[in-house]
Amino acid sequence: MFHVKHDGARVVVVGGGHAGLEAAHASARMGVPTVLVTLRESDIGVMSCNPAIGGLGKGHLVREIDALDGVMGQIADRAGIQFRLLNRKKGPAVQGPRAQADRALYRCAAQEVAKSQPNLSVLVGEVAGIELDSGEAKGVRLADGSLIPAEAVILTSGTFLNGIIHIGQDRSSGGRMNDPASKPLAKQLLELDLPLGRLKTGTPPRLDGRSIAWDELDEQPGDDDPVMFSFLNKRPFVPQVSCGITHTNEQTHEIIRQNLDQSAMYSGRIEGVGPRYCPSIEDKVVRFSDKPSHQIFLEPEGLNDHTVYPNGISTSLPAEVQDQYVRTIRGLEQAKITQLGYAIEYDYVDPRSLGPDLGLRQVPGLYLAGQINGTTGYEEAAAQGLAAGLNAALKVLGRDPVHFSRRDSYIGVMIDDLISNGVSEPYRMFTSRAEFRLTLRADNADQRLTELGRRLGVVGEERWQAFERKLYALNALNSELNAVSLTSRELAEAGFEINKDGPRRTGHEALAIAGITYADIRTLRLNLPLVEEDVSAQAKRDASYQSYIARQNRDVAAMERDESIVIPSDLEFAAVPGLSNEVVAKLKATNPGTVGQAARIEGMTPAALMLIASYIRRQGGRESA
Ligand code: FAD
Repeated sequence: MFHVKHDGARVVVVGGGHAGLEAAHASARMGVPTVLVTLRESDIGVMSCNPAIGGLGKGHLVREIDALDGVMGQIADRAGIQFRLLNRKKGPAVQGPRAQADRALYRCAAQEVAKSQPNLSVLVGEVAGIELDSGEAKGVRLADGSLIPAEAVILTSGTFLNGIIHIGQDRSSGGRMNDPASKPLAKQLLELDLPLGRLKTGTPPRLDGRSIAWDELDEQPGDDDPVMFSFLNKRPFVPQVSCGITHTNEQTHEIIRQNLDQSAMYSGRIEGVGPRYCPSIEDKVVRFSDKPSHQIFLEPEGLNDHTVYPNGISTSLPAEVQDQYVRTIRGLEQAKITQLGYAIEYDYVDPRSLGPDLGLRQVPGLYLAGQINGTTGYEEAAAQGLAAGLNAALKVLGRDPVHFSRRDSYIGVMIDDLISNGVSEPYRMFTSRAEFRLTLRADNADQRLTELGRRLGVVGEERWQAFERKLYALNALNSELNAVSLTSRELAEAGFEINKDGPRRTGHEALAIAGITYADIRTLRLNLPLVEEDVSAQAKRDASYQSYIARQNRDVAAMERDESIVIPSDLEFAAVPGLSNEVVAKLKATNPGTVGQAARIEGMTPAALMLIASYIRRQGGRESA
């Protein structure tokens, strides 16, 4: 299917998952000849677990990828069969776009995107090792012995490194169900003496939708006004469907409790650590033993597919127990399992060995992205892929790397978290991880990043023109609004809850008031222009956050001051008066280079940071450039 031409590749990407596709596409968009090597032709666009993209924090990442002209948002829009904006009733800063995807359509769209991208070729094969020359990555060697030379290599091998699949007592080697594990590559990483660890994750059994009693279930439809991921799209491409909702019950829990000793995750057969935020049903029954039931979303996997993904019951119990407990659930009494749930454990590389460009410090020219860095989730993988692809391309072009910062993007938050703190469990994005979430909104990802992407060369002409048009319209509207002056009396008499004796306001300031829309202001000033709904809605969101952002900017300045204080490498943390033993242990384990990095260690308190900063100052410490 793919046109395979890999002579003259300058960047090689290993793995065609979400990180790999985004990495290869970004590198190719930069004009760099790129080859993506993956185990199977059909790998590209495979969703190993949940057929859904986005959500809180994750949706922000997809918007940022899109703002940089990446592909995940466009693909998800093409394949989306149910769009929901999560936290719709809360402020835009914590709203997350999410879509359930038709698995087959997602894969088709992803393969189409890979096929049609100039400078990108896809090669099917197993990478057995990284080719090194004087310690630098200079290409990859395939299992058949052939060599693909390159100037930079990006590893995105997901859950495949020494992957072991568990179902009850059974264990077998595999990268995910029906795919082989990647062993020679894992062996080489071990020989390179990279800091490796083990993590685990799990997936639920899949059900035949024809055996589900849908009439007995609650229905969850998508939004009436679906919000797309890509800034370039306005509406869904394919028909929309509803999900079903059901619940586990005491009987379900009893069966699970009685069989815990047979669960791979619970019987001590897996050494890796699992995602706390995405617990298996065994975890839920044990950890939340006081809860009589847990919600399950029954998500259709496609428009022409009867498979249903029961979101909320991932498991590694044996086949017969899965069958038994599933059938205790309302609507699933006759349900047929089409694929068993399972757990997988795999090697990951401690991301503290990476630089902010996602390059491995130990092996120049080798970049890592995705699950291999200890993260979980398609979106986290794709966002890292984009950053690694961009940086690998910049390297081979002889240009400076780009470092995303915590202030400009969730991509920056994630990379900084990973390289500063490492992971103690599979890392997943949440809005609470971002200190500056009022500015890092999903709705303004293009305003934050598209211009940067254009300067770097990763944003194409179509995207750029669309962005320029939007920005022009937004700026023009803001100027018009700033030229308008409204009295409080006027606003109050128009029915808004405002003190009549309050100050005059510009149109922009009035727009910041809760409940006032651009259309409301236009009824008071008819000479204001008619503008597209998405432009006026964006002006409203920007205006609403303006005063909060001013406060946040002051916090940013304070953080920057602290961030720049260098922690001397020979500093004895135990000698800093007032630090608890626990904090000292965390600091020793992490060895942060600056107070800013120390601030992001899990469990670090502002008081401890102040103690460290003032101790260093007293010792005559310096600030970094
Ligand atoms: P992957 O999507 O795994 O892609 C890796 C790619 O590398 C594959 O295409 C593979 O063929 C290729 N590859 C590997 N080794 C080689 C080699 N030597 N040579 C050539 N190609 C190679 N995420 C969640 O957010 N929540 C969950 O609950 C969740 N549960 C999961 C459960 C299971 C059982 C699995 C398998 C995954 C789960 N995930 C979950 C994780 C999600 O699938 C990953 O986070 C995401 O796919 C990671 O993307 P990636 O690009 O890093 O790797």
